[in-house]
Amino acid sequence: MDKDPIITESPVRVSYRRALAITMINLAVSQVITGLAILVCDIPDYILREVIGIWFALAAICATSVTFPLALIFQRERLKLAQAMQQLEKAHAELASRARMDPLTGLLNREAFLSRIGRFKERKTSGAMLMVDVDHFKQINDNYGHQAGDEALKLVSKAIMDATRDEDIGGRIGGEEFGIFVPGENIQLARIIAERVRLSIAQIEFSPEPGSRISMTASIGVAQGSWSTQISELFRRADDGMYEAKHSGRNRVMVHKAA
Ligand code: GH3
Ligand code: MG
Ligand code: MG
Repeated sequence: MDKDPIITESPVRVSYRRALAITMINLAVSQVITGLAILVCDIPDYILREVIGIWFALAAICATSVTFPLALIFQRERLKLAQAMQQLEKAHAELASRARMDPLTGLLNREAFLSRIGRFKERKTSGAMLMVDVDHFKQINDNYGHQAGDEALKLVSKAIMDATRDEDIGGRIGGEEFGIFVPGENIQLARIIAERVRLSIAQIEFSPEPGSRISMTASIGVAQGSWSTQISELFRRADDGMYEAKHSGRNRVMVHKAA
């Protein structure tokens, strides 16, 4: 199953070399300005001879002692700002990712799942929808509690991820229902993947209490559609297939007739 892109951080550092370069430029500018000031101000030669060295030295000391620390301070402030921006971007990406994710299972939530399929359709890619519904799930909640039910759902989602390929899209539709979109036009491939998912769920080893092992199964409906098939129509047909699987005894895969 495809994953969200990884966020990369670009390193930002304070550069002493840059501070030094700024200082040297400022030093040169201060010397030029001092020279110009001496030229412009009509200073008598005997005074000039006495103080010219001191003037240039003072200009150099002032320029260096002020500019270098200031350049470092400005860079530090820029660094802090860049780091804050990076953290903000990271937090934003995490929030966006969480908004797409079902918090219990880590799979895409219903909205994100639908939007991901929508993107396939925009690219004119057809595919099959697999609707997976855990059998008699309510009994787990009733017999072992809601928390055990949650654990079971996590195991089901892991079983789905293990049984599907990187290019397949998986999502939690709601409750104990999961959807898988298998891109492509090969209904036989979609059926094979559905069968793999069914077996993977049937092999779950779930022990809600010490010494107990519950067997879990799921009924799966498969519907193939072209890129122009409405997503709602694809869902409806996969749902019909899933209910057919339920009525035929559960723990099985049913391909919808219209496929
Ligand atoms: P069937 O084989 O016909 O699908 O029976 P079922 O018991 O699986 O289906 P039913 O629709 O009767 O019950 C689904 C149960 O799933 C009811 C609901 O309490 C439970 N459920 C839905 N979401 C969650 C959840 O997030 N956590 C837990 N623990 N239970 C959930
Ligand atoms: Mg259900
Ligand atoms: Mg069910």
